[in-house]
Amino acid sequence: MVSNTSADLQTQINRVVSAAEGAGVRLVRFLYTDNGGVTRGKATNVKFLHNRITDGIGLTVAMQAMNMLDQLAPVEGMGPVGEIRLVPDPNTFVVLPYAPKSAAMTVDMLKLDGTPWEACPRSFLKRQIAACAEQGFTVQASFEDEFTLATRGADGTFAPLDESLCFSAVGMTTAAEVMDAIIAALEAQGIEIDQYYPELGHGQQELPIRHAPALAAADRQVYFRETVRNVAYRHGLYASLAPKPFPDQAGNGAHIHYSLWDLDGKTNLMYDAADRYGVSHLGYHFIAGVLQHLPALLALTCPSFNSYRRLQPHFWASAYTAWGPDNREGAVRLPSQFRSDRAASTNAELKACDSSSNPYLALGGLLAAGLDGVRRKLAPGKPSLIDPGNYSDAERDQLGIHRFPINLKEALDSLEKDRLLMEALGPYLLKSFLAVKRLEWESFSQADEAYEIKHHFWTF
Ligand code: GLU
Ligand code: MG
Repeated sequence: MVSNTSADLQTQINRVVSAAEGAGVRLVRFLYTDNGGVTRGKATNVKFLHNRITDGIGLTVAMQAMNMLDQLAPVEGMGPVGEIRLVPDPNTFVVLPYAPKSAAMTVDMLKLDGTPWEACPRSFLKRQIAACAEQGFTVQASFEDEFTLATRGADGTFAPLDESLCFSAVGMTTAAEVMDAIIAALEAQGIEIDQYYPELGHGQQELPIRHAPALAAADRQVYFRETVRNVAYRHGLYASLAPKPFPDQAGNGAHIHYSLWDLDGKTNLMYDAADRYGVSHLGYHFIAGVLQHLPALLALTCPSFNSYRRLQPHFWASAYTAWGPDNREGAVRLPSQFRSDRAASTNAELKACDSSSNPYLALGGLLAAGLDGVRRKLAPGKPSLIDPGNYSDAERDQLGIHRFPINLKEALDSLEKDRLLMEALGPYLLKSFLAVKRLEWESFSQADEAYEIKHHFWTF
């Protein structure tokens, strides 16, 4: 007798297989995002898709020890011996509009017995989602990405697509064709675009998408990054979501907007009409947890060498553990609500996140930190009503506002001091993540700026 769950799974598998066949797909990519934040995968011939959805595709355990330079970090148990399975989530099936006869699903990394591998980032996020549900709430989120469009010269260096001004109408036109193609490709994958505008940096664009339940939000972030870069490439351009692709230009954020809902997803528990900023106790506790763990959380949300070029005071990217209403220098901004639906539009925005992060680790870390604030009923302290970089040191001390770690090494050191986040990650994921990131730190801190820019530009 098959259980309900496996009957559901069979239905989903059949649906995915016929969707793939119906769309004339030849290859289906099984995509994972690794400790270095890089999305990688293996593809199956559609003929064998049916069994592979349950069996998965084999992968060497060593890949979770590989960094963004394809260097293998020394991690015990992650060498040439040993195998896991990339097992796709049929709910994430999309036909890829930018590659011929191709489709994709995101995967969990499972052990041979079918249980989650301890170093699987997507399973880590699922555990945090379950922990939030135990406390009576679900999380809606979206990654709000900025990215840079560029051309590549004969010498291999990148130059911004244009020099248009912030939100400039001319910039909208310069980039209109490729942006329209990117938006069409995202919509074809069921990712709904909310807005579009050219941003401050030369060639910089922003394309906020609609929010979704946390797991789907992280999956969408994977597809978003893939789509932007691939569609740009097909237009003869290069797109980079790297935190600081051009050191003299504005950085690219991947701000995380989040809100907390009841278990039915019907009521936004972050909203309280009686509060001055319309935020509930639950909302404040969550924000307080995020701020308290932020120095360590940055290792997950801003995890590349290049990330710390972006996180400078007065660059609207955030550099201090401050929060405030509509404060774009706060690590956490409370965006003002919209009159048409104050409750539903209540959310907070973590500015200190970028697209060199693994979205499952970044969002999972955010949930773990926020949840700690909820459990301990923490308060976020006074809001910053000015740029926190404009307070004196004494004022910041008094307000409990701290400067972020100033480089990747400091952020990793902070993570290694944060018991809560370390326990949430679990020893194996933590150990492999730290090894990968410490090797990145070593490699980039010994190289020059051009090497850093080239690799981050290209990889993200
Ligand atoms: N580009 C800024 C960043 O690095 C964000 C600017 C804004 O949208 O407020 O996060
Ligand atoms: Mg922006």
